[in-house]
Formats: sequence, structure tokens, C-alpha cells
Amino acid sequence: MDDRDGKIWMDGELVDWRDAKIHVLSHTLHYGCGAFEGVRAYKTDKGTAIFRLREHTERLFNSAKILRMKIPFSIEQVEQAQRQVVRENNLESCYLRPLTWIGSEKLGVSPKGNKIHLMVAAWAWGAYLGEEGMRRGIRVKTSSYTRHHVNITMTQAKAVSNYTNSILANMEALDDGYDEALLLDAAGFVSEGAGENLFVIKNGVVYTPDLSAGALNGITRNTIFHICQDLGLKLVEKRITRDEVYICDEAFFTGTAAEVTPIRELDRIELGSGSRGPITEKIQAAFFDIVNGRNPKYAEWLSLV
Ligand code: PMP
Repeated sequence: MDDRDGKIWMDGELVDWRDAKIHVLSHTLHYGCGAFEGVRAYKTDKGTAIFRLREHTERLFNSAKILRMKIPFSIEQVEQAQRQVVRENNLESCYLRPLTWIGSEKLGVSPKGNKIHLMVAAWAWGAYLGEEGMRRGIRVKTSSYTRHHVNITMTQAKAVSNYTNSILANMEALDDGYDEALLLDAAGFVSEGAGENLFVIKNGVVYTPDLSAGALNGITRNTIFHICQDLGLKLVEKRITRDEVYICDEAFFTGTAAEVTPIRELDRIELGSGSRGPITEKIQAAFFDIVNGRNPKYAEWLSLV
């Protein structure tokens, strides 16, 4: 990814993509204390717009707060940086990656006194779990790795170090021939995917794990709450067991990268009809109408670049 034309925003300046480098003794590289966001911009009739820019930027600041890092920019400056990288790289629809990390002034575990940095990059990125997965649904494996407990690395921070857990689970699932992993919490209840929130549908009711299961408070998850209300679907946040997923009618993952991806199988057990379910399809269509600017009710969620 490093050998490309384009610009990356680093600490307030646009630098050439190939020159966007940091020192090997950067604190975050060694101990994993840093935070990031995943954001998407979509092509709309009015031009390219970033979806829920304010919520993503606020979550970045909240993640930093949880990690006791003080980002040396304002929310408005970081929003402006995100608009700028999309414009400068002439992107119509893309994925954005803001990341804040701790500098290399000293390398003890305590980062006190080290500089806090921030970067924003953007690039074109299609369906995270594949175009076919979006239509047919993906195959998922319950991970042998447990999702972080809520009092370990702080599950409401989109912390760099939390992703070792996601990487282990995702690699195991892929090595075993699946598309993605589903992680259970420390008590054995369903938490979330390696990079997605989970929804299941049973008898017309939509369920998702409540956040005490250690799932990230996904912005797409919240978008689905609004869609359910619009479609007249009852939505319930609750503890969900693995076998409740086995016997659901439909299931799907949500995330900025994954958008709304149907799940057709868990642990080789077919879910519902074994393909994208009808309610999932409706929710997916409503989601793409919103992000592509076709639903005026949510116009304020789209920030033109
Ligand atoms: N859980 C995890 C672990 C994630 O990495 C993501 C992606 N950010 C999500 C859930 C979904 O969050 P969002 O909808 O805000 O992208």
C-alpha cells in the first residue's frame, strides 16, 4: 500500500503518499496504544459525501480519551482533514483511515510526554467481504478466541491493540475455509465479528448483542436501528447465545467496511434458507439508499467533501 501516488494528511500537512513515514521507535508500534477510525465516502447526486463524519470523528476522540491520549487538533480540523484527503486524491467513493499514535521521544511503557500524532489516508475500497458475499451471504465460524472482556483493553475504544484479537480470529476462520469469524464474549455469549457487529432475525424481530458483550458501538449498527424503525421492524438489544444464531431465520454483519453483509452459514450450519434473507435484503437496500444520498430523511448524515 505504500508505493502509490497521492497525498496523506499527517499532523496538519498533506505529504506525498510515499513519504508518509514514521520512526521505528514510535511508541505505538511497540506497545499498541493508538486509536483509529474506518470511514466511508460515497458518490451521491450532489457529489462525494462522507457518511456520518461527525460520529466517526467523535468516536476517534472518544477512543483517544479512553486511552488517555490528547489529540492535538480539534474535531473540526480532523473533519476538514478527512474532506481534504478525499478531494486531494480525486476519490469519488472511498474508505478513509484516520489514526492517532504516540511518537518516539522515549520508549518506556509510560508514554507520558511523548507527542501525539494524527494521520488521515483515503483510498478506493470495494465490498470488504466480496461482492458475491453481499448477494449470497458469507460463511462464518465461531472463533476459538474470546472477544476482549469489557475491563481489559476497553471495548468502546477503537484501539489499535484490540485488533490483535480480531486478526487472530479472522486468520483462524480464513485458514479453516470460512469468510469471517464470530467471537463470543468471556461469558460465552455472542459478541461480534472480527470487524463487524452482528444482527439476527427471528420471527420478524431483529436482535443484536447489547454492548455489555464487548462489541464495538458500531456506527453502522446505529444506522440499522434507524432503518428498523423506518421499516416498522422491532429491534431488541440483548444477550444472544451461539445456538440462537444457529436457529435464526436470517443474520447479517454490519460495519463501515463490511456495510450490510448477509451471513448464510455459521459453523457449517445453514442459517434460515441458506442465502440472503428477505428482511436482510430490505435493510441492505435501505442502507445503500441512505449512504448514496437517495433518502432525504438522512441528508444530514452526508458531509459533502
Ligand atoms: N466491531 C469491530 C471490531 C469493528 O472493527 C467494526 C468496524 N469499525 C465494527 C464493529 C463496526 O463498526 P462501524 O459500523 O462503526 O464501522
